[in-house]
Amino acid sequence: MVELDNLTVSYRQHPALHHISGRFARGSLTAVIGPNGSGKSTLLKSIMGLLRPAGGQVTVQAPRERIAYLAQLTEIDRSFPLSVVDCVLLGCWSEVGAWGRISTELRQRVATAISRVGLAGFEQRTVGSLSSGQLQRVLFARLMVQDADLILLDEPFNAMDSRTTAALLALIHQWHAEGRTVVAVLHDDEQVRTHFPQAVLLARELVAWGDTAQVLTPDHLHRARMLAEAWDDHADICHTDEATSARPAGGHRAPERVITP
Ligand code: ADP
Ligand code: MG
Repeated sequence: MVELDNLTVSYRQHPALHHISGRFARGSLTAVIGPNGSGKSTLLKSIMGLLRPAGGQVTVQAPRERIAYLAQLTEIDRSFPLSVVDCVLLGCWSEVGAWGRISTELRQRVATAISRVGLAGFEQRTVGSLSSGQLQRVLFARLMVQDADLILLDEPFNAMDSRTTAALLALIHQWHAEGRTVVAVLHDDEQVRTHFPQAVLLARELVAWGDTAQVLTPDHLHRARMLAEAWDDHADICHTDEATSARPAGGHRAPERVITP
């Protein structure tokens, strides 16, 4: 469904992700994990096409309207004056179009989704008046009506209580059973071990990708922590580029300042 080929993504020439290769198979259920600042959100945005790679490429076998994306809560503008029901309806825009009539069937689907996330009665509330956990649930309801082939979730359970998290994990399993491809950025190792068959461990570079039991080993987690401790905002080093600098095709532009850890 998604193929990453030597992907490098930079912010002002500082690579946030570098030389990542691998694939998310169609129908797979994968957790993306790694320390803060390890490039997890950058990876999802690159798959979504919101960021342009500095090197390598991302290939997605799905049209844009069949990809659903839940941004990290901190990046969502809540001041927009939108009701809960309209926010969920936005998930169907590709079916309805800008001036299309909203059918009774569609309204019913939206009502079912709102009720499934436990927000029946909140339809007319503005999204700005909701708690963070309630807003996350609205955004899940929007994903439910969207009917996407590829679903990208960035820290979907932040600000959620354990009961809601369990309900939404059940929804993720349902999507998986329906053959959709799901990629979720998560923090809770136990949750990943229990619910996600595949995992990607990032630390700006790829530490491990594969079956969760093989990815979440003490050795890999230690390596990710060590890599994270070696960073600061200016110390983006790319040893791969140093090693392959005679081969310009695969490499991205090296940072101006190279600091050895
Ligand atoms: P994660 O989601 O794993 O915490 P991110 O992908 O958000 O990490 O960020 C990876 C690195 O890129 C971090 O060092 C972060 O500071 C940097 N970064 C992210 N977004 C931007 C941006 N818009 N401008 C500059 N640097 C950014
Ligand atoms: Mg993030």
